[in-house]
Amino acid sequence: MKSESSSRKVANATDSRTSTISRPARRDTAIDFLVIGSGAAGLNFALSASKYGKVLVITKKKISDSATEKAQGGIAAVLNKNDSFTSHIKDTLVAGHYKNKKSAVEYIIKKGPAVIAHLKKLGVKFDKDLRREGGHSARRISHVADNTGKAIEDALIKAVKKNPNTEIREYTKALKIIKKNGSAIGIIASDEQKNCTYEIRAKAMILATGGIGQKFKSTTNPEISTGDGIDMAKKIGTRLADMNYIQFHPTVLNAPGTPKFLLTEALRGEGAKIVNEKKERFINELLPRDTICKAMEKQIKQGHKIFLDFTHKKASYTKKAFPYVYKNLKKYDFDLTKDLIPIAPAQHYLCGGIAVDLQGRTSIPGLYAYGETARTGLHGANRLASNSLLEAIATTMETPNGIVRYLSSNPLEFRTK
Ligand SMILES: Cc1cc2nc3c(=O)[nH]c(=O)nc-3n(C[C@H](O)[C@H](O)[C@H](O)COP(=O)(O)OP(=O)(O)OC[C@H]3O[C@@H](n4cnc5c(N)ncnc54)[C@H](O)[C@@H]3O)c2cc1C
Repeated sequence: MKSESSSRKVANATDSRTSTISRPARRDTAIDFLVIGSGAAGLNFALSASKYGKVLVITKKKISDSATEKAQGGIAAVLNKNDSFTSHIKDTLVAGHYKNKKSAVEYIIKKGPAVIAHLKKLGVKFDKDLRREGGHSARRISHVADNTGKAIEDALIKAVKKNPNTEIREYTKALKIIKKNGSAIGIIASDEQKNCTYEIRAKAMILATGGIGQKFKSTTNPEISTGDGIDMAKKIGTRLADMNYIQFHPTVLNAPGTPKFLLTEALRGEGAKIVNEKKERFINELLPRDTICKAMEKQIKQGHKIFLDFTHKKASYTKKAFPYVYKNLKKYDFDLTKDLIPIAPAQHYLCGGIAVDLQGRTSIPGLYAYGETARTGLHGANRLASNSLLEAIATTMETPNGIVRYLSSNPLEFRTK
């Protein structure tokens, strides 16, 4: 390990503020598990891995800054007696244009009920009713009003903060993966507050850095979704897959001076119509997202303007069932109970990513990936609504045996310089 006072130049550092460091570096760290990212995938992995060793979670902004926190609709899981795994699997394959990996679809969908039970145990208070969303042939979305992601993120943060085997470092950004003899052995990180860089060595490194939305002009994703994990993994030759399968969401606020605020899919599940300026419907709103986006694109090319119409619903129902969307639209001078809401498609989700198996193993020993950064094959060419939080939690609920074995066969001393 280098001394605390060393100064460094970091090759390929992406942040110009930290590329030349003249201040004392933070102390280098060695740990069992290094988790990069504090969304659903990273935090849930940290909880399960804490049974096997010390876990350090680093995150480039505040711990809660994530796409997870922004999720509105909920989590898809078979919990209704009129529903079945066969039906959820079929809906996932149809939405994914059968480009999915069947073994991943079966594995993850069958974990749905256990995922909901796990989150309830962590304190997430799901509403009693199950909602329906586009592409689902049954009511199977567990939700907390229309702000489900925040409830999940809050519960995970609370559990991780209470856990004696986990440490969280906020404002700590992974810049580069260190590879030695073909394996990933650590990273260069920047402490964004102390303005210095340092090394973190780990027996197992977990990329849970979320999506790539900010690479697009128009996206629903938060500022942190810059694809860092995928970029870093690619630089060391990690295999990626399905990077061309990008999902656009059809119902995103489209008005001058407003952010690309998402209008949850659950609105359509509960009867929202998609209309043009003549109030004409032109598509079945319960079809998968890509089909709806294509129909909207055709209308837009013909010069039409597109709107989401929820005005036929009772105002009292709308305010109670969709308080988050209602209040946010009010900020931008739109009333969901009275106004047609102008919408257009925007980038929403990366179906591909770092190629992993169901244990989260990448093509590089020592490097694992989960959540939106990873490509398990669940989504195929187009993700079925509310299947991504399911994937993030299902794949991180237990630490795979493969990682536990890897951890015990790779003592950290072996990996240090
Ligand atoms: C508006 C919106 C609504 C959605 N609604 C739903 C829904 O209802 N149901 C559903 O299933 N899915 C939904 N999704 C998708 C879902 O929220 C995400 O796919 C999922 O939350 C991804 O979780 P994650 O843990 O992989 O990544 P994230 O939650 O995005 O977390 C990524 C983490 O990595 C950190 N990070 C990134 N780069 C670095 C770096 N270089 N160094 C350190 N830390 C880094 C970030 O700061 C963050 O903490 C929605 C997405 C959006 C944007």
